[in-house]
Amino acid sequence: MSVRLSAGRQGSQKSENKMIIDVITIFPEMFIPVIGESIIKRGRAKGLVKINIHDLRDYSSNIHKKVDSPSYGGGGMVFKIDPLFESIKSILNNEKKILVKGINMKVSRPKTKGVDKPRNLTKDSFNEFYENKIKDKTKRTILFSPKGKKLNQKMMNKFLSYEKLILIAPRYEGVDERVREYLVDEEISIGDYVLSGGELPAMVFIDSLVRLIPGVVSDKNSIKNESFENSLLDFPHYTRPAEFCGLKVPDILISGNHKDIEKWRKDKAFELTKKRRPDLLNEKKDFKK
Ligand code: SAM
Repeated sequence: MSVRLSAGRQGSQKSENKMIIDVITIFPEMFIPVIGESIIKRGRAKGLVKINIHDLRDYSSNIHKKVDSPSYGGGGMVFKIDPLFESIKSILNNEKKILVKGINMKVSRPKTKGVDKPRNLTKDSFNEFYENKIKDKTKRTILFSPKGKKLNQKMMNKFLSYEKLILIAPRYEGVDERVREYLVDEEISIGDYVLSGGELPAMVFIDSLVRLIPGVVSDKNSIKNESFENSLLDFPHYTRPAEFCGLKVPDILISGNHKDIEKWRKDKAFELTKKRRPDLLNEKKDFKK
């Protein structure tokens, strides 16, 4: 099953898609609520991003649609290379027809069962695929793994420049090492802890990326001033009431003096970053205090 989630009624606002994200998972339903709400929903509705969710089991040649096998030498289950190869190849070649879902965004299971069909794969055909893949600099295949490079905002800004991103969300012990070596361009961790699967990391990645796509968030400044942009943490925010049980909002913020407010925010962002994340300041080149 491959699912393209339609953006519902707002689909009429669609313009040209700027970025395509394809996710390969064995739990496609997990993505529906996340990509069907708020900022991601808006980005899809505006046609600025298209998100396709693919069920890896659709690419299995096994009659029971198995995609995993025990680790050689003993241990848990590992995602096999052949279904992952088939899915990536199919996505890159736009081979597979993607089902368009209705506005209720339900995922329908395919009626047909997988069949054990011999794959007509040779070393030459693999090499040809591999050569073409590494030549194409407009697309990136990303594997989520605790062993990967730790994700940060700078990396997210870099990913904005690709036309198409393929996200692999494994389970169990992860993927066959040959997937990492030959099919994947980047291996990414979302932090030094272990989750049960790559679905949440993939959703974290999508959320963080989509909000950076120009036009998705209407207020450009809100993105520019956020934590990590400019190597600083965000400044403190206050809102109404100006006084709550004797707890007052700093006078300067209600003074109406925009220049002073801007300076106060800059100073506070700097102070907070120095206290909590001095490592960020080392990266900072152009901060003028
Ligand atoms: N055996 C792996 C290890 O020790 O590195 C952990 C496998 S984990 C139970 C299953 C999957 O969850 C991983 O293959 C990966 O896709 C995902 N995952 C878990 N923690 C992650 C993290 N911090 N960042 C990115 N992906 C993670």
